Amino acid sequence: MPEVQTVQGAIDAQELGIVLAHEHVRVRDEATADQWPTRYDEQLELDAALVAVKDAKDRGVSSIVDATAMFNGRDVRFMKRVADETGVKIIACTGIYSYDHLPHYFENRDIDVMADHFVEDIEVGVQGTDIRAAFLKCAADAAGVTANVEKMHRAVARASIKTGAPIMAHSMPAVATGPRQVEIFEEEGVDLAKVQIAHCGDTDDVAYIEGLLAKGVYVGLDRYGLEMYLPIDKRNETTAELIRRGHAERLTISQDFCASIDWFPPEAAEMFESQGAIRDWSMTLVFDSVCPTLREMGVMDDAVFDTIFRDNPRRWLVGE
Ligand SMILES: [Zn+2]
Repeated sequence: MPEVQTVQGAIDAQELGIVLAHEHVRVRDEATADQWPTRYDEQLELDAALVAVKDAKDRGVSSIVDATAMFNGRDVRFMKRVADETGVKIIACTGIYSYDHLPHYFENRDIDVMADHFVEDIEVGVQGTDIRAAFLKCAADAAGVTANVEKMHRAVARASIKTGAPIMAHSMPAVATGPRQVEIFEEEGVDLAKVQIAHCGDTDDVAYIEGLLAKGVYVGLDRYGLEMYLPIDKRNETTAELIRRGHAERLTISQDFCASIDWFPPEAAEMFESQGAIRDWSMTLVFDSVCPTLREMGVMDDAVFDTIFRDNPRRWLVGE
């Protein structure tokens, strides 16, 4: 069996068990956190991560794919503390989470140099540790596939080809970024079975999602609870239809939950919940509500559950 790198070292891919394919144990802007550390409470963040991950563990989760890259405060030492204290395996990434902006450092260096940075994270270690990244992350959002976004995608693609590591690409269905993202990977010669287009579940346009699936990529139905993009009921209808149409082997289901996030002041979470922008957003929503509903709808049984929560994340990670 192939190995998968976790923040605690390499494991046999068979040991992954039930996987949440897209979550975050902490999201924060590393520049702000570095410049104004007194504005952050590391203990509070750690406690929030431990509660979220332990709750997921109680539902049977044994591995979490943590999609936190540069600009979201990736910190593999923090991830390892969470993994050590919970016993849940955490899988870290390399790459850049940006909708356009690049630091001058990367603006003035070419694609291959950027790719080399990602390769180092995968082959040597991240942030001066021997913890290795297992996958590559890039993003396209409302601004679309700008020149900088394309540069990041090409760098990620080249690092994938060099190392064999899979890719997760944040996408925005509302502006249909997915097809162009896949096209760039294709142009670079990436094996599309190694590509996961995240956030496809933000649309109920099944034809759009099927267009991506036709290319052989995995699609992430991975933002359950983020009602501002699509309510749970509509997400369930879309998921059910994709399963009915025979796509179970290319779907991941997750929540994109951030155990803590500094994008908003602390009081915002309550406001979002009361306004209906988020609903029951957590690392357990898919087990407490989504899977039972999909079972009631007659599209999920134990075999489909295992395909989506065990086999697909494992096959995506090892490139089967
Ligand atoms: Zn995410």
